[in-house]
Amino acid sequence: MVLDLWWDAAFGGVVGLLLGSFLNVVIYRLPKMMERQWAAELAQLEAEKQGKEPPGDTQAPFNLMTPRSRCPACGHAVQWYENVPVLSYLFLRGRCSACKVRISARYPLVELATGALFFFCIYRWGVTPAGIAWCGFSAALVALALIDWDTTLLPDDITLPLLWAGLLSAAMQWIDVPLHASVVGAAAGYLSLWLVYWGFKLATGKEGMGYGDFKLFAALGAWFGWQALVPIILMSSVIGALVGIAMKIFSSLREGGYIPFGPFLVGAGFTAMVFGPNAILGTVLKLLGL
Ligand SMILES: [Zn+2]
Repeated sequence: MVLDLWWDAAFGGVVGLLLGSFLNVVIYRLPKMMERQWAAELAQLEAEKQGKEPPGDTQAPFNLMTPRSRCPACGHAVQWYENVPVLSYLFLRGRCSACKVRISARYPLVELATGALFFFCIYRWGVTPAGIAWCGFSAALVALALIDWDTTLLPDDITLPLLWAGLLSAAMQWIDVPLHASVVGAAAGYLSLWLVYWGFKLATGKEGMGYGDFKLFAALGAWFGWQALVPIILMSSVIGALVGIAMKIFSSLREGGYIPFGPFLVGAGFTAMVFGPNAILGTVLKLLGL
């Protein structure tokens, strides 16, 4: 019985590694797909304003499936055996097989992290709707954290399904959150950050965060219930502030000094998943030395 659980968890881990490989593609391409769409919509509007024919879509297709992955340095098409999670990276010693340029260590790290999260979810909840729901939650959070870190975007294509999946999981009683706590959590999560956003904007004229942050916080409210919102926002703010100070000291802040908030919400979300939302508050108090 215990052995079965380990086998299931190991299987989940392998699925996580493979999905992590796909998440690398999502993290890299989804923001570019959004930019292309915005550019196309803008061109269409411009054409309409000038009374011209709208430009047709002349660009080559670019989505999560096409074109195939290529080395950004030399254009070498990545073969299937060069795309095995983690192993290919080790086998190629982190270099492109054609031009030997370095491949970012982030690719195997994303695969390993997703594999570890899936292993944990299946070990904890088994191959059940709950286990599968938390695997999906984990995959969405990994993608959101890195896309936000890279581009300061939190795509609706991920945050909104994540929100709905949380409400559905509560409604189906797959997760241990009563439906009313989930619905109130989603609404209160969105509304609270929306209020903070407008308060901050009216007071300082600046934008402290984006609408994507509200949606991600709403999704976390759906997955953990409204009771978890305060611990989650406290934890992400404290860790975000600590990281911000550290980056300022080591002067590694990017232009404008903007640090995306999404990765810290994600960190709090994973803490809540692994240790339970109630454990977060204790962690925050410890961090603050109280
Ligand atoms: Zn290359």
